[in-house]
Amino acid sequence: MGAPYKLRELVEALKSAFSRAFTVRYPYEPSPAPEAFRGKLQLDVEKCIGCGACVEGCPTGALTLEDAEEKRIITLAYPYCISCGQCVERCPVDAINFTTEYSVISTRREELFFQLEKDLVRCEVCGAPVATVDHLKWVMANLGFLTLSNSTLLVAAYEISTGKLPKKPLERKEAIERQDLLKILCARCRRKAVALDHGWRAKY
Ligand code: SF4
Ligand code: SF4
Repeated sequence: MGAPYKLRELVEALKSAFSRAFTVRYPYEPSPAPEAFRGKLQLDVEKCIGCGACVEGCPTGALTLEDAEEKRIITLAYPYCISCGQCVERCPVDAINFTTEYSVISTRREELFFQLEKDLVRCEVCGAPVATVDHLKWVMANLGFLTLSNSTLLVAAYEISTGKLPKKPLERKEAIERQDLLKILCARCRRKAVALDHGWRAKY
């Protein structure tokens, strides 16, 4: 009873030894992932407008944003990413997407991070960040003629077209004045300037 059984096992073993392996010899040969696989994220520097929507939605802090003096820096830390896809969902310009690359292992620290920089526009009164130049351009392109209805966008459009933006940070002002309405302002300073303007109108 045992001998034929052993013989069959021996035949199978010999067949396996001389036939092609069923598994891939990774990492010696590539093992492509399926098309819909959520692998390593890719951030397109040209497409990205630096709006920060992806950073707002990231639940793990894998995406971070820092506003340095004249630049907005967006950092993607691969080891913290859980591939949830919130950033991909939120990006308005399709600048961040999954690739099918699944190996994020590296002994080089700099390969575990990706960073991009965008020119930043600051409030001309208090210095608070307003938006990146690319973000303003994107808003203008989407608003069309409605750009004319917002003073900050109007001034920014003029300064971008004349090459005055981005500019070095100006000295911050102590108090806001009525004429500041015709400057690039953050939402807080714009509210103050408009309130001031209305107050003057009521008074005179
Ligand atoms: S996939 Fe999720 S965890 Fe990874 S960077 Fe995007 S939002 Fe953050
Ligand atoms: S949401 Fe998109 S455009 Fe905005 S900062 Fe993130 S990647 Fe860039």
